[in-house]
Amino acid sequence: MVEGPVSEAKTVYIAIGSNVGEKLNNCRKAIDLINNSDGCTVRGISRFYRTEPVGVTAQDWYVNAVIHIETILGPHELLRCLLSIESDMGRVRREKWEARVIDLDILLYGNEIIRMGELTVPHPLMHQRRFVLMPMVQLNPGLIHPVLGKSMSELMDDLEIEGQAVVPLSDI
Ligand code: ATP
Ligand code: CA
Ligand code: CA
Repeated sequence: MVEGPVSEAKTVYIAIGSNVGEKLNNCRKAIDLINNSDGCTVRGISRFYRTEPVGVTAQDWYVNAVIHIETILGPHELLRCLLSIESDMGRVRREKWEARVIDLDILLYGNEIIRMGELTVPHPLMHQRRFVLMPMVQLNPGLIHPVLGKSMSELMDDLEIEGQAVVPLSDI
């Protein structure tokens, strides 16, 4: 008998964002680093989008994308892995929502609902952000949000475009 892996692989969606330096390259590099991390395999990458900063003024525009990966890491292990990639790429946290070389957020971890101190999944603001939902819809429009019970395309249709421009990079 062949033994399978100890834990079942999970499908996880991760938001990638950068608004400092070579933004597109920063996003690509982070995706490579995630794919090269033990226990993580990148299965899909959305298009890259140029997006308007949300919730802050006087910041440069962002490049955003969403990837989905398969991972045998637990949610906290995965968060640690992503935070260490952020710091390896030169991110230093000073204040909330400041400009950053790279930001990696766990959007969905399978269908799990996690509310534990340092980690909330589904990401609590994902359904309010066009820069997240647009690439999510591209990857998996019918995927149901485990808390809200609506699909990614339904959530996207609920949002106002005003103040949340999201333009595919190849259309610029
Ligand atoms: P936002 O959460 O609004 O996108 P942000 O990404 O700018 O803001 P950060 O400073 O990058 O916020 O993250 C602060 C902390 O959020 C992280 O150190 C992490 O512990 C915590 N956190 C909670 N839930 C998540 C999640 N789903 N993905 C990533 N980080 C999370
Ligand atoms: Ca974020
Ligand atoms: Ca973050």
